[in-house]
Amino acid sequence: RPVLAIDIGGTKLAAALVDDAGRVVAYDRVPTPNAPGRDAEDLWRALDGLLDKVVADAGGPEPAGVGVGCGGPMTWPEGAVSPLNIPAWRGFPLRERLRERHPGLPVRVHNDAICVAVGEHWRGAGRERANVLGMVVSTGVGGGLILGGRLVDGASGNAGHIGHVIVDPDGPPCGCGGRGCLEAIARGPGLVAWAREQGWRPGEPGGTGVELAADARDGEPVAVAAMRRAGRALGIAIASATHLCDLEVVAIGGGVSQAGPPLFDPLREAFDAHARMDFARRLEIVPAALGQPAGLIGAAALIFAPGR
Ligand code: ADP
Ligand code: ZN
Repeated sequence: RPVLAIDIGGTKLAAALVDDAGRVVAYDRVPTPNAPGRDAEDLWRALDGLLDKVVADAGGPEPAGVGVGCGGPMTWPEGAVSPLNIPAWRGFPLRERLRERHPGLPVRVHNDAICVAVGEHWRGAGRERANVLGMVVSTGVGGGLILGGRLVDGASGNAGHIGHVIVDPDGPPCGCGGRGCLEAIARGPGLVAWAREQGWRPGEPGGTGVELAADARDGEPVAVAAMRRAGRALGIAIASATHLCDLEVVAIGGGVSQAGPPLFDPLREAFDAHARMDFARRLEIVPAALGQPAGLIGAAALIFAPGR
């Protein structure tokens, strides 16, 4: 039986049925009802409808369990979520609500970047590797750590949260209340805001990271600079992370990771400039091998392969 896998971000709610080979057998997504004034129950209703639809589209199988990746931070193993980028869900008892919705099924809720780490370790770029940092670069920036072949939870389930590692103490303010965090510089909405301040004018009124990345690939100078700024911040943070944790692979998922060379070239350049110890220089940095569903596949792995 497949697992019902859920990925909750500041931009979209995604759900899938994932089989034990890590294949997505049904998938759908809806925008996160994240506008000011939307409350916790609005979000829950959107998720509830999405889950009904994904299961119905697949012909109504009874899932083997429910695995969830949610924007952090959160509490583990209780599964109450407090996503920095989803104000309406601060303190929301997500695991409890899902247990009421799916009586008798195992329900595991972890942070979305931890799911990317677990998914990439299970079926992606971190297969056969014992020391993996999985990252999400999306509405926020997060990370999850596999060390010595085991998922590291930390005291509260948030170990590996690289989004709030400081890359520039004099940098821009961050949603966490700090300054110069990786997330403040590299999150999708931050990238777009910076590009607009520098005079970037997207062709489409909604101008998002998707258009910004396309403009950067076309060589538009402000878009190139915006991606370069984010890529550098990521490279600096990853250099620090691998000095701390002696990693083998970093796999980066999330919407912004699809930007391609305009992001990854400066990222690798900055990494090379800052990762000076021999042991750190061997690190492989790649886009998530499982692509955009990496977090969903990892959420399913919380049920299929909970030891990871
Ligand atoms: P969530 O944060 O809800 O998990 P995503 O992973 O899709 O959602 O991340 C959303 C952010 O990523 C937005 O800021 C969006 O502009 C940006 N983004 C999405 N797709 C791309 C892309 N192809 N290239 C660059 N940025 C992207
Ligand atoms: Zn921060």
